[in-house]
Parts: sequence; C-alpha cells; structure tokens
Amino acid sequence: MKNKSIWESEYINKNVKKLNKDLDLDVLIIGGGLTGLSTLYNLRHSKLKIALVEENLVGLGTTAKTTGKINYLQELIYYDIAKKCNVQKSLLYLKSQVNATVELIKIIKKEKIACDLEQVTSFVYAHQKDLKKLQYQANLLKKVGIDVKEHYQDNAYSISVSNTFVFQPLKYILALKNICLNNKQHIYEKTKIIKIEKYANYYLAYTDKYKIKTKKIVLACHYPNFLIPYFMPLKVNIEKSYITASLNKYKKETTITSSLPTISKRYYQNKNSYLIYLNNSSKISDNLNEKNCYDNILNKHSKIKYWWKNTDLITIDKMPYIGRVYKNDDSLLIGTGYNTWGMTNASLAGSILSDILLNKSNEYEKLFDPLRINFFNHPLSILKNCYYNILSYVQNKIIKNKPWYQNIQIKNINGQSIATYTYKNKKYQVYNKCPHLGCSLVFNEVDQTWDCPCHASRFNLAGKCIKGPSTYDITYKPNSKFKYNKLIIKK
Ligand SMILES: Cc1cc2nc3c(=O)[nH]c(=O)nc-3n(C[C@H](O)[C@H](O)[C@H](O)COP(=O)(O)OP(=O)(O)OC[C@H]3O[C@@H](n4cnc5c(N)ncnc54)[C@H](O)[C@@H]3O)c2cc1C
Repeated sequence: MKNKSIWESEYINKNVKKLNKDLDLDVLIIGGGLTGLSTLYNLRHSKLKIALVEENLVGLGTTAKTTGKINYLQELIYYDIAKKCNVQKSLLYLKSQVNATVELIKIIKKEKIACDLEQVTSFVYAHQKDLKKLQYQANLLKKVGIDVKEHYQDNAYSISVSNTFVFQPLKYILALKNICLNNKQHIYEKTKIIKIEKYANYYLAYTDKYKIKTKKIVLACHYPNFLIPYFMPLKVNIEKSYITASLNKYKKETTITSSLPTISKRYYQNKNSYLIYLNNSSKISDNLNEKNCYDNILNKHSKIKYWWKNTDLITIDKMPYIGRVYKNDDSLLIGTGYNTWGMTNASLAGSILSDILLNKSNEYEKLFDPLRINFFNHPLSILKNCYYNILSYVQNKIIKNKPWYQNIQIKNINGQSIATYTYKNKKYQVYNKCPHLGCSLVFNEVDQTWDCPCHASRFNLAGKCIKGPSTYDITYKPNSKFKYNKLIIKK
C-alpha cells in the first residue's frame, strides 16, 4: 500500500531542465499544473517569448492528486450558481463546461495522447434533503438540450449524463509538456519563484539564483501568493478530501454525491481494474488529526493499493477566478478557484488566458473575471471566510500542542515559537509558523510533514517548503531571521 496517488505511481518525466541563467521574456507562466501547461500549449504558435517555471516537476501539484474526471455534471453547481447569481450565469457556466469537455477530448484525439481516456456515464446522487435542487438542476440541463436521465427509485435519487469522460491526468500533462517542447517552448522545472517586483512596464521575478525580466505574468500556481492587495483568503476557502485506489472492479461510470459528506467514485483500468474512491471531505481547518482522517477511509475497502489526499480552492459563487488581477491591465493574469472541477476549468483557463495575451476576445472572460467578487455583492460569504481564517489562526496559536505530539516539543526561543521533532535519534527544528500569513502549523504524523491549517502550505521534516502558498522554508537556524512571503512589490 503506497501513500501517493495512483497517477504518480505511473509518472515518468524526461527532459527535465532547471533554469540556469537570467531571462528576458514577454510572458512568464508560474506553475506547471494543468492551468500552466494548458496556457503554454495554447500559445505554442505565438511569436511571444514565453517560459513556464515549475518549482517541482510538472503535474506533481494538485493535478497529480485529482480523481481525473472530465465532467460537466458537477454536484449541484448549476443549482447553486442559479441561486447565488442568476439562471443566465448558470447556463453560461454550463456551456463553458460542456465546451471545455469537448475541447479537451479534441486535443487528446488530435494530438493522439495516450492517457487512458474512456467515455463513461456520470451520476450525481442526492441526499433526500437535496431532491428538489437535483430536480431543478435536471430541468436546467434539459432546457439547453442536454440528454439528462432522472432515476428516482427506492429512496435513491440521481441524475446522469453519458457524454462525460475519465482519464489519467499525469499522462495528459506529460504529453502537453512534450508537445510544448517540440514547439521549441521553454519549460524550467525545479525552478521556484520566490519574489516578484513590479516596475512601470515590466516585472522582475526572482528564483534563489536568477532573475527573470518579463512584460507579463500568468499566475498558474494554484493558490496565488504574489498579489497585492491580498484578498484571496477572503475570496476562497480550501477543501480537503481523502482518496484511495483499490483493486476492485467498478462499473464504467463515475458517481458523486450532491453535497457534503462527499462520496465520489470512478473506474480506472490500466493493467488492473481499480475503484477510485473519495470520501471524508472537510474544510482545511477541520479534522486536523491526519491519522484519523486516513483511518476513516482506509477501512472502507479491501485491496487498497494507493491512498492520498488533495486540496482545492472553493470560490464564493462556485465559479473560477480566471483573468486579470488588476482592472484593465493585461500584465498580471491568474487562473485558480476551480471548486474541485479543475480538468475542465484549468483547460478553459488555458484558452481564456492565452486569448487575453493574444488580444483576442473570449466569451467567458466576463463570467470568470476575478474582480467580480467584492464585499458589497457577497458580504456574508466574505465575512464567513474571514471568520474561518481568524478562527483557525487563533485556535492553533492558543492550542499549539496536539494530542498526537509525542515526539514534539514546542518552545519559545527569543520570542519565536520553535518546534523540535525527534525522529530516529535525529532532531529537526522548525519555526512553528507559516511564512504565508503566520498561522501556527500542525504536524501531520502520516506524511511526516508540517501542514498549515489555514491555507494548506506544507513543509517536510527539515522545514523545506513542499507546497505553497508559502514560498519560503521554515528550517530554524539560530542566526538567521524568519522570512515572511513577499507579495508583489511595486517599485
Ligand atoms: C480531492 C480532489 C479531487 C479532484 N478531482 C477532480 C476531478 O475528478 N476532476 C476535475 O476536473 N478536477 C478535480 N479536482 C480539481 C483539480 O485537481 C484542480 O483544480 C486542478 O488540478 C488545479 O490545477 P492547477 O494547474 O491550477 O494547480 P496545480 O496542479 O497545483 O499546479 C500549480 C503548480 O504551480 C507550482 N507552483 C506553485 N508555486 C510556485 C512557485 N512559487 N514557483 C514555481 N512553481 C510554483 C506547483 O508546484 C504546482 O505544480 C479535484 C480536486 C480535489 C481536491
């Protein structure tokens, strides 16, 4: 049984190149997940000088840990958008997801990408309390001619559509990488951006050794950290879920429940048949004992081969944030907030962001405008996110020691909270604070990492940052200072 995703177990990445010089670019894409690579792919015929940088290896962020459904039947999202916004927006979002599904399949077929693509029937199952919402959503889908089937029998309620797909997301990502490299595009892996400075007509982005001068930046780094003013924690919350892949036969279909507690299933066939099962979803700040969280899912099936967890950003109106960070300014773009439906939405981000960079119009630009959400149009949701941020910050500052901290000591040294973990007779000392916004960290005894319960940054035992939004490490060195993340600095 392995603590990694089934997709990572099949990952073979060749031609890895690190940045080894300063660059002067038109466009810098930060992040080599599905958003970054889809954007680069869409720009493969442009004359712009472009490079993509990825702090780890391409695809190994959130994209490596999805359930890999290419699906426009997304829980009760069309009902939710109709209620939170209006029916027109809901139908436009539906159109965007159906089109994104079609476009993704077109790319796979045109480029002959071997990524275990299969057409499946997808179901949304409703809890009794959600039955009316499910029927409302079914009617909305029918209204635009979608062949949706309704199944109401024996107290089980579901709707289904048949033109949805599943695939192996990392095989797809690696194929996109190779297509981009064959088109002489530049991808630098193991290259992390730690700071950005904004000048009148350009940006300077820094790695630990090199400097990239660029006219424009695309933030494809999942949880964006280089932003000023920095309202992102108020515009999203983070959901985590636990997943297993077991050697159990499952029908050629996908299912998901209409609301929390989410249960999601899909079929995957490579040399073996797998059931991929997702459960135990919650807010990032809830259920901090990882062992309990994993135990809850590991006893659900026999023959489990892989188990892992993943986090994604949930937006206020259930639609992604894709487009310009500053009003009427094409120099800083973003694609994030996919509400756990990133295969369609990241591909869509690739086409919207590349259209903005190429001065082309895109019919979804306005719908996904990151600036559409503000305190005045969604005050309650913003206040709710504000409350959760503060609660998590304060709770973990007050109760630093957790019941499972047997080999951990937390001490105040020169005014700083320092955690010492003893493992196999070796001592590891880290700052007990996330460089992103200063939240106290929680030790994850399953993965042996320090995790931020506010915005999901992660650090290994030695304190090296292995997942953002933090861009800095937390290794304690008595003579060096703790560094907070830098936002974009205007010069
Ligand atoms: C449990 C779960 C299941 C899901 N299942 C599905 C599904 O079945 N279908 C679906 O459509 N969606 C699904 N999703 C959603 C989907 O996985 C994500 O929305 C999507 O993968 C996000 O892609 P991304 O490219 O934006 O982010 P990522 O894949 O995280 O890519 C961002 C990249 O940026 C890099 N990066 C970050 N900071 C820096 C920096 N400073 N310098 C350089 N590089 C940096 C990271 O290393 C990372 O590789 C699921 C999500 C969850 C949580």
